[in-house]
Amino acid sequence: MGDCEVCALNTHNDPRLILFENIDWVIVLREDDQQYLGKSVVSCKHHIPHVADMTDELWQTFAECTKWYERRVSNVFEPANYNWQCLMNLGAAVGVTHVHWHATPRYDRPVTFEETVFRDQRWPKSARPMEDHRAVERSLAYAIAKKIRGS
Ligand SMILES: [Zn+2]
Repeated sequence: MGDCEVCALNTHNDPRLILFENIDWVIVLREDDQQYLGKSVVSCKHHIPHVADMTDELWQTFAECTKWYERRVSNVFEPANYNWQCLMNLGAAVGVTHVHWHATPRYDRPVTFEETVFRDQRWPKSARPMEDHRAVERSLAYAIAKKIRGS
């Protein structure tokens, strides 16, 4: 869909930030927001406007993503919990929504990776997706993605 921001983003994902993909979904590390180490977006590869439009097959392939992501991130960074959010408020404000999920690992202790300390300053309260954005250097984002992928 021409005026859909998520469709546009899906056409030029940086392969070094892609953690995993299957026929319906792609998981991309958020280099512009690592306030929560490993924070990523799971985007539907098809223009599906609402969660209610998701077919059984889409739920199945989405479940594959959630399991892959939690297993991999748990293996490397051992978060205490995960938050899964489907917000789409900005899309709704302009009348074009496209299903994507924010995957936010939550930590009950500081985690050091590549000499950088990541603290979940909101734990165990709800995460703030916008106000506390923490961008990281591209090289660090690539290293985080590589660590989660395992290659
Ligand atoms: Zn779209």
